[in-house]
Amino acid sequence: MTALPPGSTIGILGGGQLGRMLAMAAAQLGYRCHIFAPPGDNVACEVAAIATIAEYDDLAALRTFAKACDVVTFEFENVPVAPLQSIMRDVPIHPPIKALEVAQDRVEEKEFVRKLGGQTAVFAVARSEIEVEDAVATVGTPAILKTIRMGYDGKGQLRISAQSELASAWRRTGGQPLIAEAMVHFDAEFSVILVRGADGDIRYWDSPRNAHEDGILATSTLPAGPLIESQQGAARKMAAAVADALEYVGVFTAEFFASGEGPLFNEIAPRVHNSGHWTIEGAETSQFENHIRAICGLPLGSTATIAERVEMQNLIGRDGERWLQLLGDPAANVHLYGKAEARAGRKIGHVTRLYR
Ligand code: AMP
Repeated sequence: MTALPPGSTIGILGGGQLGRMLAMAAAQLGYRCHIFAPPGDNVACEVAAIATIAEYDDLAALRTFAKACDVVTFEFENVPVAPLQSIMRDVPIHPPIKALEVAQDRVEEKEFVRKLGGQTAVFAVARSEIEVEDAVATVGTPAILKTIRMGYDGKGQLRISAQSELASAWRRTGGQPLIAEAMVHFDAEFSVILVRGADGDIRYWDSPRNAHEDGILATSTLPAGPLIESQQGAARKMAAAVADALEYVGVFTAEFFASGEGPLFNEIAPRVHNSGHWTIEGAETSQFENHIRAICGLPLGSTATIAERVEMQNLIGRDGERWLQLLGDPAANVHLYGKAEARAGRKIGHVTRLYR
């Protein structure tokens, strides 16, 4: 892969905060960004050179966008795959579309990881309402029901503590095919965030300990503690096997549960990830910059952590009202995403603190 010269245009599918932070990193390296996103609160557009606002399946708009870009990437993992396949000949796309396909389907994702030797929670599939009871009986209670497709940040999920709670579960999760997962009794959650270059070179950031509230990431902390540190090596091996099998280029994230039985794979994100936001201040090269470096064929930067302790806290919903107070804290690196509306459960910014 030849290096894209500064001044080239990077297309980003998706207009959220991940695209915004990618575009800011790209600008630092002299690139222009072109955002493609459906109508909405596209906060990435505010820091990009150009934007196309159209539906992902608007083939004419997508083709015009592809022709205007030197490389295309994505910041949203639910971009539909079929329209993307139609622009593959017009422009290089990194990471590969196959990574999106795998990440969009919880069953395919788990099977892909298992084939490569990874461990996952026990699961069963319910493709119609009448299969839900059997699926939950297979995995036992407590269980967690998740839509196979289009779930993120705890959306489309339902916790079931007894078989008797199944009435209307199908409707409550949106009337779509489901996966029933056995509830994992984990001690902690963590992620492996890696970047893979076109030449197969892989670099890892230190794995943070991730704490979720209502299925949404609340904090990522380093050091992650002895249990996670003891499982990081095995989890990295698993994540690298997936990235290699996909011939992946860019930043790749895999989320794990740390339990007595070793790291249990939860899900992959074929993109930069919220649990890697700490790398902006806390690592020698951020996940955003290394993603841009990888997809543009540049040498990768060092992923070393530069502080003894790092804490990233998400600002969710009304947390953002504290922005002025947070800015008064000299240790706080405040990031606000410019969202028009601070709805409950919506990520509107984050704060990172380093301790040396
Ligand atoms: P997910 O959308 O799969 O990442 O789920 C969001 C969060 O719900 C995870 O980060 C966990 O905190 C929790 N969770 C998901 N699946 C399970 C499971 N099988 N057992 C226990 N907790 C889970």
